[in-house]
Amino acid sequence: MTEKTKTAPVVYLVVPCYNEEEALPVTAEKLTEKMRRLCWDGKISPASRVVLVDDGSKDATWECIAALHAESPLFQGIKLSRNCGHQRALLAGLMTVRDHCDAVISMDADLQDDIDAMDGMIEKFCEGCEIVYGVRSDRKTDTVFKRGTAQAYYKMMRLMGVEMVYNHADYRLMSSRVLRELADYEEVNLFLRGLVPMLGYRTDVVYYARAPRMQGESKYPLKKMLAFAFEGITSLSIKPIRMITMLGVGIFLVSLAMLIYVLIRHFLGYTVVGWTFLAVSLWGIGGLQLLSIGIVGEYIGKIYLETKRRPRYHLETYLGDR
Ligand code: UDP
Ligand code: MG
Repeated sequence: MTEKTKTAPVVYLVVPCYNEEEALPVTAEKLTEKMRRLCWDGKISPASRVVLVDDGSKDATWECIAALHAESPLFQGIKLSRNCGHQRALLAGLMTVRDHCDAVISMDADLQDDIDAMDGMIEKFCEGCEIVYGVRSDRKTDTVFKRGTAQAYYKMMRLMGVEMVYNHADYRLMSSRVLRELADYEEVNLFLRGLVPMLGYRTDVVYYARAPRMQGESKYPLKKMLAFAFEGITSLSIKPIRMITMLGVGIFLVSLAMLIYVLIRHFLGYTVVGWTFLAVSLWGIGGLQLLSIGIVGEYIGKIYLETKRRPRYHLETYLGDR
């Protein structure tokens, strides 16, 4: 760890905001109070800041951010040229501030995630953790539907071979060093909560209870949520392609069994003319086609992963010359 972090670390909060004019005044007040307290307690440096990222809002969010910035040096603002979505807005914030601080905590503008969990995150960071995940200890405030679908989703992602932290959204602390490594992931299809665990380094979790949204409404309607879930699978896993290959193999095997069955029926004289040929070719060709698509898909999958140009490793320590 750097010399700087042995004293109180400079911590930046990055908060993506999309049409949050209702929530921002309350959020700003609570964050000011929280940051002051952390500062007084000597847990963070007075150089710490709150960075609000306006993700192309259509309401007065940016005016609100500009006013906060004019009022207090605690607040900084970033305005994106258009709506790019939560993940990209978050990344824009993280990449902009990564060299100004020791650690960044990302959180949503509605403060559904308990801001008091930050204390624990900062403590763990000072103990040497590079990534600290905020994890919901319960989902009581969610509807039965959201809870059920979320759980099924985590299970499915695991089946797809994607490493994800259970019940963790985008409330997390990352050290500036981890952010610099994250910058090497140049992918356009962003799914941060699946990407961050790929980084490795010393990590820990902090538990908190998630509150319901107080002001404004969710910017994640079901349609966006489904699109986000699908993005998660297709940007991190090529297992779906493999499933086609497996299906092809399966159907091809069935066609072999069919061949035997059909031949037996043929020789026993239980068939009309031409049926044998049709039945076998139907299954055989179907299976072969799926198998071929799967194999071609395997190569496309490889190309897909190559085009992401992801870093192949991250150094943690280097014991060089003394
Ligand atoms: N958000 C964003 N761009 C979007 C949609 C959402 O920056 O296109 C922000 C939003 O302002 C909030 C965070 O992403 O800070 C999470 O959104 P929300 O709280 O509506 O999602 P939910 O908690 O309902 O999943
Ligand atoms: Mg929310």
